[in-house]
Amino acid sequence: MIKEKAKEKLKDATLQRNLSSFCRAFKASWEKAYGKWDFHKLREEVSAVKRPEKERIKRRFEAFKKNAEKHGAKVYQAKDAEDACRYIASVCRKARSNVVVKSKSMTSEEIRLNLYLKREGINAVETDLGEWILQLAQEPPSHMVMPAIHKSREEVAELFRQKLNEEVDPNDIKQMVKIARKHLRKAFFEAKVGITGANMAVAETGTIALLTNEGNGRLVATVPPIHVVLLGYEKLVDSFEDALKILRVLPKSATGQNISTYVSWITPHKETHFVFLDNGRLAFAEHEIYSEALKCIRCGSCANFCPVYEKVGGHVFGHVYVGAVGIILTALFHKSSVSRELLSLCAGCKSCSYYCPAGIPLDRLIDRLSLDLERADFKLKLANRLLLSPGLAQRGAKAASKIKDSLSGFNPKLSHFAGDTIFRDELKSLKTESSSGEKVLFFPGCAVEYIFAEDGVNTIKLLERLGFAPEVPEKPVCCGYPMVRSGDASSATKAALRCVELIKDAEKYRWIITICPTCAFALRELLQNLCRKSPEHFKKAHRLRDKVLTIGQLLEKTDPEIASCERITYHNPCHQLKGLLFSPQKWLSAKLKENFVPLKEPDRCCGFGGSFSIEMQELSDSILEDRIASVIETKAAKIITDCPGCMLHIKYGLSRRGSRMEVEHLSTFVLKNLK
Ligand code: SF4
Ligand code: SF4
Repeated sequence: MIKEKAKEKLKDATLQRNLSSFCRAFKASWEKAYGKWDFHKLREEVSAVKRPEKERIKRRFEAFKKNAEKHGAKVYQAKDAEDACRYIASVCRKARSNVVVKSKSMTSEEIRLNLYLKREGINAVETDLGEWILQLAQEPPSHMVMPAIHKSREEVAELFRQKLNEEVDPNDIKQMVKIARKHLRKAFFEAKVGITGANMAVAETGTIALLTNEGNGRLVATVPPIHVVLLGYEKLVDSFEDALKILRVLPKSATGQNISTYVSWITPHKETHFVFLDNGRLAFAEHEIYSEALKCIRCGSCANFCPVYEKVGGHVFGHVYVGAVGIILTALFHKSSVSRELLSLCAGCKSCSYYCPAGIPLDRLIDRLSLDLERADFKLKLANRLLLSPGLAQRGAKAASKIKDSLSGFNPKLSHFAGDTIFRDELKSLKTESSSGEKVLFFPGCAVEYIFAEDGVNTIKLLERLGFAPEVPEKPVCCGYPMVRSGDASSATKAALRCVELIKDAEKYRWIITICPTCAFALRELLQNLCRKSPEHFKKAHRLRDKVLTIGQLLEKTDPEIASCERITYHNPCHQLKGLLFSPQKWLSAKLKENFVPLKEPDRCCGFGGSFSIEMQELSDSILEDRIASVIETKAAKIITDCPGCMLHIKYGLSRRGSRMEVEHLSTFVLKNLK
């Protein structure tokens, strides 16, 4: 069903235009806002102040309660959505407030507060412009910070005409705001209760911070005689100093602003009710990895940088929270049946983790969720079994190479998954030079074993030319990442154990080299965890992790001289740039000088994502199209990348556009162009 919804969104040309211009504009503002700031340092600070252990949260809550009560506030702990709604409705009834005003609050969306109040005969009026527009349109928000971002000005003008009988020029934003103000002002004075969320709650004083650009939050909190603050425990921080660390990143990551127009610090000064919502939070605060989600400051940038969100928008996520954190929170808060399906909306590009200002390893949480929810269906499990049986996989690869052309007729993308030969056959005829150089282990991985055999052979030759004595594991071996991504826990563990067994005596190698950043990421970051039930394998996985390098990392270390007389461009594989936090682009461009043409948006994903490229083909192809457009724009003769998956996908994308640009692996390119 999500697949069908995504396809529908891809066909909506207005939505595609709106999302693309929003995401691109946001990235430009983000760059500008962070400017000279050290993003990684700032986020480390935020991550530290938001440490989510249950004991810490409890301690912060007790301090907040004590200080808020000193100012006469009531503090209520709601165990779930029903409990929170019931309490808030009782406050409204007691105040005889049939109209309440609200400022934007994702927590109130989480508990479906408006719906509950409506059933109780209470009209909740949204006062954030985006939320108000959606209330008129009777649509849910599609973004955590900019709820109506999927709508164009023209659509909003039409909505005003239909619902308010107001004629407005779509280009006259000021006029639209004026109309909204006119309609909202009445509600502000009529309401006896104002409901807000909180961006932060400072334990040492019982103060909340509200960030808005329209000033509506301040009005909601101050004009009606009663203020209700609905918030999750994760909004608590110890001190003002800690809150300021969050304030430094939140506007930058949320709207690309240095500071929001209105930052209100509100300590209770009239009848105030704080409703702290649990709804599962305190339980997952104890989880070894899901607790990280409690660091979220709801900036929305994991959606803004997500290539999938850019294509389908927020409504496809089926619930309140969208983007990477939406995939996670929907499962943790709602345990809904869509949670497993939502996982298919992730291409595994790691942009969310890379740009999260709270330092949440979102991609790992998604991977863990995939495993815990056992996402893999029969087809994915079968494919994983194949990768675990090298004999079968080799026979399959040989058969696929013979029917390559027929595969192309069936689905042109599939023919790119078939190589001409297999690595182990090529290896038999390869004459290796005896070398007294340092021993390195070349870890080919599945893509080289079964599709890109030539690049595997070229890597061995390159390692020899660099003065190393390369060896390979005696049998084909998978790093386990395809199984993790597809949510097949038992195959992932089997692959990891087998991997550790086949990388024997890691100590004797100076390095373990891969030409696939995904394998490198899996060997470095996942293997140990997958082996945790076997202490012996766990230890070995730990010992080998620091030896793993991609060929790009090795080239930067060894710095061989290369030259090319052709114009070359380079595509950054996501798992290297955003997983291993490395790119050989600087090295390559320094070597190739004027013959190097950088791609626009160097961190853009090609949309491959392994099984994602087949499971969600239309979506994957649409992400690819954007990347290919910028590749073609470079007018380079050749595009280099160092991930077999990206190579496969870019080759397919270029062929669809009828482009003759060559695609080459970094390893092969360097070997051919060594001086
Ligand atoms: S997970 Fe990170 S990037 Fe996403 S909304 Fe939360 S803080 Fe922002
Ligand atoms: S890994 Fe990439 S595709 Fe998946 S949720 Fe994060 S940003 Fe989106």
